Amino acid sequence: MMNDYFRPYSFIGEVAGLVIALLLLGVMLYTKPKKTYVYKYVFSGTICSIISLLLNISIILVANKPEEYFNRYIFMAQLIVFLLLYNAVLYCIFSYVNMMSIVRRAQRKEFLFMYLLLTFIYLTGVVIELAATGLYQMSLDGIRIDNFTRFYAGAGIVCAILCFNATMSNRKNVSRVISHAVYAIVPIDLVILIIQMVVVSKYHVIFTSLTYVPVFALGYMLFHSYPYDEITGAQSIYSLNAYLHKTIGKRNTYIVYIKLLFQGIDNLMIEKDDVMFKGVEACRAVESISNNVYIYRIADDRYINVIDSEDESEYLRSINQIRGVLDSVKAELSVPVNYVMVTGQIQSELDEPGKVRRFFEYIIKRYKDQNSSHFYMVKPSDYDSFIDNYEISTTLKDIRNKLDLDDERVVVYAQPIYSVKTGSFRVAEALTRLKLGERIISPDIFIPIAEESGTIHALTCIVLNKVCKVIENIEDYYDFDAISVNISSKEISQPDAHIELFDIINKYDIDLSKIRLELTESAMFENYDVANNNMNYLTRAGIHFYLDDFGTGYSSLERVMNCPFKTIKFDKSLLYKSLDDNRMDDIMTYMIEVFKKNGFVTLVEGVEDESQSQYSLEHGFEYIQGYHYAKPGPIEEVKKYFERKGKF
Ligand code: C2E
Ligand code: CA
Ligand code: CA
Repeated sequence: MMNDYFRPYSFIGEVAGLVIALLLLGVMLYTKPKKTYVYKYVFSGTICSIISLLLNISIILVANKPEEYFNRYIFMAQLIVFLLLYNAVLYCIFSYVNMMSIVRRAQRKEFLFMYLLLTFIYLTGVVIELAATGLYQMSLDGIRIDNFTRFYAGAGIVCAILCFNATMSNRKNVSRVISHAVYAIVPIDLVILIIQMVVVSKYHVIFTSLTYVPVFALGYMLFHSYPYDEITGAQSIYSLNAYLHKTIGKRNTYIVYIKLLFQGIDNLMIEKDDVMFKGVEACRAVESISNNVYIYRIADDRYINVIDSEDESEYLRSINQIRGVLDSVKAELSVPVNYVMVTGQIQSELDEPGKVRRFFEYIIKRYKDQNSSHFYMVKPSDYDSFIDNYEISTTLKDIRNKLDLDDERVVVYAQPIYSVKTGSFRVAEALTRLKLGERIISPDIFIPIAEESGTIHALTCIVLNKVCKVIENIEDYYDFDAISVNISSKEISQPDAHIELFDIINKYDIDLSKIRLELTESAMFENYDVANNNMNYLTRAGIHFYLDDFGTGYSSLERVMNCPFKTIKFDKSLLYKSLDDNRMDDIMTYMIEVFKKNGFVTLVEGVEDESQSQYSLEHGFEYIQGYHYAKPGPIEEVKKYFERKGKF
């Protein structure tokens, strides 16, 4: 025993780890990092690291000076709690690496289960270790914790190998940056841990934390740190989201949303610099308004100021000052820079960060004029109309993402159209409604939203599918020519539009000529060649095109004549004007004649009463659509307007 001289353990490595972990925690708390899906692992890993390091340092202190600090039970508890925390740290690293893969995210439960199993094995190891050799050995002037250290370093090695293996075996689903990091870090960690196991008994130095604290720092740097904008020093959109997350539902703070309007200064580099410097200056000026005013840059031309106060007079003062800053920047610049400033409170309707931004962007969209600045304070009704719009667009996106061709939220109506020649209903137009819970939304409201959010094509596919189904069900029993479906000009300008539409129709055993498509003339303006190509393809397949809403756009008769339209649908506004105004009546008479002479079929829309009906008949329209004849109703019921085929 005499030669068993006890050398105190050096824990400088653990202190270094602790310092890094504390700095990391400080930075994380201050910078409001990107709270991604996996952020929680980095954050809780850092917290566990700090506690376990404090504990480990205390263990080493007791081991170095047992005569002063040692208490058997407390010491045992320290060791066990440390081992558990170390396990938690490993769990955080392991999960972080794995959850970075899409496949593993889907298997979260399995992963947790697997980890619990490993923990069980680990704890069994602790028990065996305790029973066999003991985690520590008392000696005269110190406690040997070599076994204990070797034990958890060994667990670290197992975890490192598991991480390496999990990444290797799942290579395709792990991003390159993660796999590179794993390939670089794991071998280094393994070397450090092996050295740790070897040298702990010889030199009594402990530095295991250097294998895990840097891993969390790296994760933070790679994926979660992006708190400030380098040009303006304003905070980033991630910081804004973090802030909103914290305040929403707790405080009704105020928001100022600013969109800068640069027009025609993009090519002038010198002025661009000038604008940028002034912009940075403006940010400093806004920041100095008060400590309650924060500034976030959420895109090149968009800023959000938060006024963290519920005091209305302070709010009003601050927004006036912000406006003053913007106006003075504007006056000092030699180039025309305008802004739209929209401001209001984060009310309870805006219950998540994304909604707050979307709300202000929704209002900003009203300002199309780029040549002057605008200032607007939101009204209570804006929140309601936004929520409506938001619900509709989220429903539409959900419909698009699910793309269930039988989606029940898309309700198809049909309006029968009267044929003058036969004196009966021969065709019908499919008209869509959106079912939002109990409410039925009119197409005038949701079609523009669908066009803007890129969901219109999904709607068309669903409507077309439902119409085809109805046609298939009734065509053997009822006599009719066709049902027409409205297509948005945005879609017909997409190169593959005809293929997708055709694929849907082809699923049904129906006569292709029973489907017709309605398009407005704006289709011809977006992308003439593509639209024309799509139309020609479908026309060759036997599908007729209607020119919808004729007379509402800037009609180019020549262009219209050159496109494969078969039927011209005169908009109701033309009809109503012609009834009032003799000159319009002359134009109308002339146009009907020209179209008919050139082989087009003429149809008039919006015929609501007897006089309009009389007018339409006298002017020789071949088809008449309007409430006076029949109103739109659920498409399943449209058959009752058609004649039955024979007896059945
Ligand atoms: P539209 O294509 O011009 O459709 C005719 C609209 O006029 C329908 O309104 C119809 O209900 C209405 N209408 C029918 N008869 C009369 C009448 O006598 N008087 C008046 N004042 N109106 C009459 P609805 O169903 O509200 O549709 C409005 C618009 O929404 C449609 O105008 C069409 O542009 C669009 N839309 C409807 N369904 C779809 C669709 O599935 N896809 C696309 N892209 N647009 C659609
Ligand atoms: Ca139409
Ligand atoms: Ca129309």
